[in-house]
Amino acid sequence: MHELTEDDKKRLTEFLGECLHEPYWHDMRGTICYKCDHSLNGISDMYRQFTTWEDLGALKEKLVETGKWNDFDEWAYMKWDSLKPFNDLSRRLEEQSDWLFTLNRFCWLVSEFLRKEQQCAETWTQPGHQHIHVRSHQHRPVERRE
Ligand SMILES: [Zn+2]
Repeated sequence: MHELTEDDKKRLTEFLGECLHEPYWHDMRGTICYKCDHSLNGISDMYRQFTTWEDLGALKEKLVETGKWNDFDEWAYMKWDSLKPFNDLSRRLEEQSDWLFTLNRFCWLVSEFLRKEQQCAETWTQPGHQHIHVRSHQHRPVERRE
């Protein structure tokens, strides 16, 4: 569980505003990316692999920077709540933070969050499918008024 797929890694790399490199061979410069023009000599991964705490930190900073942190935090909290219900409120916050700040799980949750946000945006653009945000990414269909 919480293993990142290649699609997850690409989604997260793009969210960070970084290039999904497309290598091509340049006679003078060796392997370079045709999209961003960076030299890819010696680089084996074409996008971030999300295996370090630095990756987690970059995602956290980006969520804050883009104003998505509160939505994400709330969504992750609901996710945690549904997986692991506790009655003891005093332990709840500390255990949730511990649960959240686990490298694989955190990156996976951000990817899930972004994927649902994308689905949500697509739903919005379909005529006749109005939704209102009840809480972040939980939707309640709105009755159409004739
Ligand atoms: Zn590139």
